[in-house]
Amino acid sequence: MQDETRECLDKQSGSHSCEGYVTGRESESGTGTIIYRCAVGHRKAAARHAEIRERYPDSSIAPDWFDPTYAGERWDEDD
Ligand SMILES: [Zn+2]
Repeated sequence: MQDETRECLDKQSGSHSCEGYVTGRESESGTGTIIYRCAVGHRKAAARHAEIRERYPDSSIAPDWFDPTYAGERWDEDD
């Protein structure tokens, strides 16, 4: 479904250059929330979510309580 009055969720943050129609899609986290993003935004969100799911199969995102300074642990171990 297309709703041209909506803006891409990520437009404010400028994390990508918006392209295509802004459409509502169910949140990747499966909460049932409808997220409005442009085509690029949806693609990036899906890719990011897939990557997180692959890395942390039991935990989709770093929990709120996660403190990277605690015990010298890091959630993201890219480097
Ligand atoms: Zn966008």
